Amino acid sequence: MEEISRFCGRAFTRMVLQKSSPISALKYGHRRGFTMSRKSRSIAEQGKKLFTPGPLGTSRTVREAALPDLGSRDVVFIDKVKYLRSRLVQIAGVSGEDYTTIPIQGSGTFAVEAVIQTAVPRTGGKVLLLENGAYGKRIGKVCDYIGIPYHKESFPENKKVDVNRVADILRADNSFTLVSVVHCETSSGVINPVVEVGSVVREIRPDCLFFVDAMSSFGAIPLDMTAGSVDFMVSSANKCLQGIPGFSYTVARKSALQKCKGNSRSLSLDLYDQYQGLEDTGQFRFTPATHTMLAFCQALKEFDDEGGLQGRSARYIENRRIIREGMKKLGFTEFLDDSHDGYIITSYNFPDHPNFDFKIFYSKLNEKDQVIYPGKVLNADCFRIGNIGDLYPQDMTHLLVCIEEVCNDMGIPLPLS
Ligand SMILES: *Cc1c(COP(=O)(O)O)cnc(C)c1O
Repeated sequence: MEEISRFCGRAFTRMVLQKSSPISALKYGHRRGFTMSRKSRSIAEQGKKLFTPGPLGTSRTVREAALPDLGSRDVVFIDKVKYLRSRLVQIAGVSGEDYTTIPIQGSGTFAVEAVIQTAVPRTGGKVLLLENGAYGKRIGKVCDYIGIPYHKESFPENKKVDVNRVADILRADNSFTLVSVVHCETSSGVINPVVEVGSVVREIRPDCLFFVDAMSSFGAIPLDMTAGSVDFMVSSANKCLQGIPGFSYTVARKSALQKCKGNSRSLSLDLYDQYQGLEDTGQFRFTPATHTMLAFCQALKEFDDEGGLQGRSARYIENRRIIREGMKKLGFTEFLDDSHDGYIITSYNFPDHPNFDFKIFYSKLNEKDQVIYPGKVLNADCFRIGNIGDLYPQDMTHLLVCIEEVCNDMGIPLPLS
């Protein structure tokens, strides 16, 4: 009792100090016994702008579509799952005869791990892992945990995977059963030549499977899965298709999947088993992300309304153009040179000024509801600005204004020299 009155007293004091109206205090804070500050109220109402590689901003209508409770055996839900599975095959540009979509509960990494678990045989399996950044390296970590043998071929973080080198490796060593590559390496923004790599794999090692992590590019950067001879492609609900987080998915070649029975060392991440369950009963083996999947169906509708991949990529390209030109005017330099034309995320070098401290820069932007992300590149001090998610040209322009204000605040003269 004493505890409660002390708590209420404090909340009341804060309420008076902030001169917030008692009505809004009731609306937003009363039930939990505290008063939200002006700042957090604005978060509840509008949310922050996320210029990050995930989680990404989503539309209110997508979030609202997650409101209904539905049982996992409900025919409405089963129909939604069927719909989103076939829609994803269409968006991937492949035929439903040859390919299928297998959703899996969890974030994007769960799908990556599920593919590795499922596609690599327990004996005699070996992965050729092509990497030029953090997400490529993560696939190596997945292999380490499972105990799968692999050869990691590393390329500089500011360069694309070199197809000729891949061809040389495949010619010299015939032990690989799976080749993996990341389409958009989100740690830097580099776009790898997936179709070229896939063609080389198919030409030199026709039986070797080809796996693409297209997490941050699917739905926004074209990928010809047929020309690239892709067997497994993964992405997640909360990347360019702009759903809320909670599940990820694999678009898999059925003939490749059929050979994977019994490979998985994990029950929950067994894609073959998940596929059989969905095909046989239309249901998931374990509790599905029901709310997230409802939201995802709305996200697919909004994707179509925007004009599909073409419309979405046009907006991201425009976002990227605005941030690129604006940051250039402010004197910021990009980590990648002009030979790169990705439009998912841009890495910027830290300004060379004694007052620059990334933590302060980040928090001051965050106070203005602008969320950027520290760089994940290993060899340079960078921060990243994402263009993807529910972001529009006016959001990019506003971010630029905020960056200017924050630099002024920190005593960093602009344009940077
Ligand atoms: C976002 C992302 C992932 C998955 O990350 P999660 O945090 O598990 O969602 C994997 N690969 C790439 C290239 C990504 O951009």
